Amino acid sequence: MSGYILPPEPMTNEAVAERLTNAAVSRIQNGLIKKQNLIYLELNGCSGNIISLLNGQNPDFEYMVNSMVNLRYSNSLMASEGEQAMEKLLAASQDEYILAVEGAVALRDNGLYNVIGTLNGKPLTGLEAVTMLGQKASRILAVGACATHGGVSAAKPNPSESVGLQRVLPEKEIIKLPGCPVNPDWFLGTLAHLLLYGVPETDNLGRPLMFYSTLIHDRCPRRPFFDKGIFAEKLGDKTCLFKLGCRGPVTRIDCPTRQWNGHVNWPIGANTPCIGCTQFGFPDAMAPFITYDTTRVVKDE
Ligand code: SF4
Repeated sequence: MSGYILPPEPMTNEAVAERLTNAAVSRIQNGLIKKQNLIYLELNGCSGNIISLLNGQNPDFEYMVNSMVNLRYSNSLMASEGEQAMEKLLAASQDEYILAVEGAVALRDNGLYNVIGTLNGKPLTGLEAVTMLGQKASRILAVGACATHGGVSAAKPNPSESVGLQRVLPEKEIIKLPGCPVNPDWFLGTLAHLLLYGVPETDNLGRPLMFYSTLIHDRCPRRPFFDKGIFAEKLGDKTCLFKLGCRGPVTRIDCPTRQWNGHVNWPIGANTPCIGCTQFGFPDAMAPFITYDTTRVVKDE
């Protein structure tokens, strides 16, 4: 492949989240806007989004917590536990708040497949919590694929009858940040935009255009190989991963420029086909995640 030269990386828009967050913090410090309360619920999922947020570097998550919002409830991050934590959740719900939710809502058996705590001796289901909190929230963010449309939690055969947040809050405007997991910049940048200017411009699925507008395929550094019809035959090959099942041609997100873990790498950069985790319908609609040209293998043998 030495005859093919990868193009320089395209212009990045990775600074968008940082600029927005810095502006929000500056205006809060100057008394121009108020810090708002944030309730962060984790429902039916793997907690991968809150873990991803903790990797945030523009700025880090702790900086966001201290400078942009008052984090009133977070199952993973708060010191309180048990009924004390549930009481904090109820107390927070009495004030104005932004609601962020990761994980899907389990509907089966009135939500009993996802219990987030015990209140007054009774289990509090994710379904009850999100129905109650969603009605009063000033803004709602669905964080990650499970919250936006069911994601992995709703994958076939979906034994918990999990659904995305919009199904249980059909009348509410919900900003959707799909991804498995969400990139910290997508969350922090959207939160800062909410504080500064209100709801960012979104596409018809509720995804902020500042992050979700462009196909991976259109900014992929391997696109010249696609255009010349030069395809990887196995993982590790440095050419276009289309024939191994890459979903970059149908997936809208800024991974090629933003990348992950502080711009260290991203799936295609690590020779892994994109699995389309920011597309609605993921994972079922994007499976299988890897395909092989079996006719080629037979011929080679
Ligand atoms: S198919 Fe995948 S690897 Fe190939 S150019 Fe498109 S996004 Fe890049």
